[in-house]
Amino acid sequence: MNPLKEKILRLVRETGPITLAHYMQMALLDPKHGYYVKRDPLGRDFITAPEVSQIFGELIGLSFVQAWEDRGRPERFCLVELGPGRGTLMADLLRAAAKVRPDFAAAADIVLVEVSPALRAAQARALQDHAVRWASALGDVPDDAPLFLIANEFFDVLPARQFVRSAEGWHERMIAERDGTLTFVLSPEIAARTLPQAVPNQVFEIQDAASAIVAEIAARIVSRSGAALIIDYGHFAGLGDTFQAVKAHEYCDPMENPGEADLTVHVDFASLFEAARHENAQVLGPINQGAFLDALCIRLRAERLKCAAPERRTEIDAAIDRLTNPAHMGSLFKVMAICDGRSPGMPGFPC
Ligand code: SAH
Repeated sequence: MNPLKEKILRLVRETGPITLAHYMQMALLDPKHGYYVKRDPLGRDFITAPEVSQIFGELIGLSFVQAWEDRGRPERFCLVELGPGRGTLMADLLRAAAKVRPDFAAAADIVLVEVSPALRAAQARALQDHAVRWASALGDVPDDAPLFLIANEFFDVLPARQFVRSAEGWHERMIAERDGTLTFVLSPEIAARTLPQAVPNQVFEIQDAASAIVAEIAARIVSRSGAALIIDYGHFAGLGDTFQAVKAHEYCDPMENPGEADLTVHVDFASLFEAARHENAQVLGPINQGAFLDALCIRLRAERLKCAAPERRTEIDAAIDRLTNPAHMGSLFKVMAICDGRSPGMPGFPC
C-alpha cells in the first residue's frame, strides 16, 4: 500500500479522526512522501498560467515596474514569490522588467518562498542568471524594505477545514478510518466558531493559514509600502465543498492515494479581502483574470510576439484564449491586489 496512506491510517487509529487541514498538510508536504516534496508536478498533473504563456509573467513584471515607479523607485525592495513552481513566472517577470527598467532587478532582493526541494531545484535552473535566495515561509523574509509580492496558484494548496451545517449548528468534517480506507466523518461536537447562516447540509470552508499569510503581507505593505498580487481560482464569499484532487489532468478520489495527487480548494477571496482590510491595507479586486489581462493589453503583447515568431501564431492565440476566455481560466481565476493606500494602486484594476 501507499506508504503515506499507511502512515495516515496509523495516525488516525492511534489518535482518532484528523481535520481536513491536517490531511492536506500531510498529503502535500509530508517530509518524505508529500506530493510537492517528491516531484515537479507542473505539466504532468496540471498546468498553470505562467506555463501556458510567457506573456503572463511579462505583464506582471511590467505592472510591478509601474508600481515600483509609483512608489518612488525604492533603491532596495523585497521581490517575493510564494510557491514559485518552476520559477517560470519570476524569470518572465524579470526579463520583461529588465527591458524597460534595467535598474529594477538590481534594486530587488529576490526571495522565493518554497518548501519543495524538487521545485527549488527547478527554480534554481530557471533563475540561474539572477541572485535569488529561498525561504520556507514569509516570516523568514526580511521586513525592513518595501515588499512587492506575487502568488499564483499558491493559496489554493494551503490546508483548509470544512464544516457541515446540521439543524443544531456546524460540525467539522474529519477524516477517519473505515475498513482499512480513509473516509469523511462528522465531528459530533458543535463547532465553537462563528460561521455564516446556512441551511442544513451546506458546507463551509476555512483556510486559516491563507488568512494569516495575507494579514502578514498586508501589515508589511502598510508599514513599508509595496504591493502584492494574489491570483488563484476561487470565489467571493461562497458556501460549498470545493475540495478536489487532480492527477494527470483528471479529477480523482482525494482519499485514495495521498501524496500522489494535488489537493486544493477554491480560494475564498472574501476572507482574504477581510484579512487585508483588517490591517488597513487598500485592496483592489478581486477581478476576473480575463479582465485583468485584457486591461494590461495582453492582446497587444500577443500581436508583437506573433510578429516576432509567425510560426507560433496558432499556439499563441490558443494560449491567450486559455488565459482570458471565461470558458477556460478567464473568470474562474481571480486577481486581487494589496496596496499601501498612500501610492497609486496597481495597473490592471479599474480606478
Ligand atoms: N506558482 C506556480 C506553482 C503553483 S503550484 C505556478 O503558477 O506555476 C504550488 C506551489 O506552492 C508549488 O511551488 C509548491 O511547492 C508550493 N507550496 C505548496 N505549499 C507550500 C507552503 N506551505 N509553503 C511554501 N510553498 C508551498
